[in-house]
Formats: sequence, C-alpha cells, structure tokens
Amino acid sequence: LVRAVGVRKAFGAVEVLRGVDLEVAAGEVVCLLGPSGAGKSTFLRCVNHLETIDAGRIWVDGTPVGFAERGGRLHELREREVARQRRDIGMVFQRFNLFPHRTALENVAEGPVRVLRRPRGEAFDEARELLARVGLADKVDAWPHQLSGGQQQRVAIARALAMRPKLMLFDEPTSALDPELVGEVLDVMVDLARDGMTMVVVTHEVGFARQVADQVVFLVDGAVVEAGPPAQVLDNPQRQRTQQFLAKVL
Ligand code: ATP
Ligand code: MG
Repeated sequence: LVRAVGVRKAFGAVEVLRGVDLEVAAGEVVCLLGPSGAGKSTFLRCVNHLETIDAGRIWVDGTPVGFAERGGRLHELREREVARQRRDIGMVFQRFNLFPHRTALENVAEGPVRVLRRPRGEAFDEARELLARVGLADKVDAWPHQLSGGQQQRVAIARALAMRPKLMLFDEPTSALDPELVGEVLDVMVDLARDGMTMVVVTHEVGFARQVADQVVFLVDGAVVEAGPPAQVLDNPQRQRTQQFLAKVL
C-alpha cells in the first residue's frame, strides 16, 4: 500500500532523509524507531505530502504522492488535488489538537460533514459508533478540556478514522501522555491493527512494536539502519547502532 524509494529531503544544507526505502503491504503495521532527529517525523510528513521530497518517490495505494499521471507523464498536483489525496491518509500526532470549541462528537463528525459532504445524521451516527469503538461512548458530549490526554488522543484517532482512511500514520501518539494513560491509547491502536488497518507508527513503545508490528524499521540520521520483523530487529539486532538505541529505551 505504501512504497517509498530513495526518499531524500533536506532543510537548507541539512540532509534529513538520505535515501529512505520502505514498503508497507495492505493490512501491515510498520513501526518506525530511531533516535531524536533521525527524520522519523519528516518521513511521515513526506508520506502525507506535508513536505515535498527532493528526490525519490512515494506511492500510496498505487498513486505517486504529490503527482498525477496524465498522458503518460507525471505532473505535480495542485493544492486541491493534494488535499484530496491526503483525505485517504489519517494522521495522529503527539499533540491531539482537537477543535477546542467542539464536543468530542462534533470533532469526529466535522470532517465527514464538511469535507466528504456526508449527510449530518449519518455522519453523527457514525461518529458515535467510532467513539464507542475507542471506548468513549459516554463522552460524546464532552468538551476537549473535560477529557484526559488519553481520552483526547482517542477522540483524535476516532476523528482520523471518520474519514475512512486507507492508511493511518501515527507520530509518537503516546509520548505526550502521562504513563498511566498510555495503555488505553495503545489498546485502541492494537484493536485497529487487528482489524486490518494499514499503519505506520513512529513510537518508542517497544512493547507495542513487539506485539503488533509486522516490520520494525530503525532509522538513524535519515537512513534505514536495520529493518525486519520485531523478533529480529528488537530481540536480535545485528547493528551496533540498533543495540545501543534499544539498550536506552528498553
Ligand atoms: P524526534 O524523535 O525528536 O521527534 P525525528 O526523528 O522525528 O525526531 P525530525 O523531526 O524528522 O526527527 O527531524 C529531523 C531533522 O530535521 C532535525 O534535525 C530537525 O531539526 C530537522 N527539521 C525538521 N523539520 C524541519 C524544518 N521544517 N525546517 C528545518 N529543519 C527541520
Ligand atoms: Mg518526531
């Protein structure tokens, strides 16, 4: 579902991604690990075309991100078309950024109503179902400030799912949470993975990676150092750099 080949990205003179290759099959969960500054967030942003890449190519569901084929040639997409492409990709950040003046339910229903032009009743019914699915059936009418960080993050996940994405990107979704709230968010993500959602997850939660990842990809200085099934990369890392990193986070 996702194929990245030779992805390069620089900010000024700083090369942040130096030829990243990655493949994610439909229904797979890939966990992206690596030290701070490795380029993990930048890579996710490139998949979503929030950043334009300097070289290489990323395909999502067969479509080159940021481009369209017309008459056998690739053309750069205009902003509207990029927005359309981006709809199929859900993104959940470290900070939940819910709309503060909308209830949990309104936060979830907003995208389907405004962007997908779904009928309000239908969108709100589905939003209720999604909130129930993330364990918040009793919080539909709560305001964001009335919710804990873990609850807000679960609303953010429900909101992303409401757009019926083909792919979900998570950028350290639990790292801003108090430790006792991490589990409830990871549980929702485990369910989602078991349900067959294709996911790329930047995380330091090694337990989560071990439990649900099909592949663990270890990124350092903008390059993939090691990749493979969790049993290999997490429990039997071949590279010294991976071993050092895991020794710190485990
Ligand atoms: P962390 O674990 O701290 O979140 P990361 O692996 O997600 O790190 P990135 O956020 O992708 O790392 O950043 C990689 C490098 O790119 C860093 O050196 C960062 O300072 C730089 N960088 C990221 N975004 C920009 C930007 N918009 N302009 C300039 N430099 C940037
Ligand atoms: Mg980051």
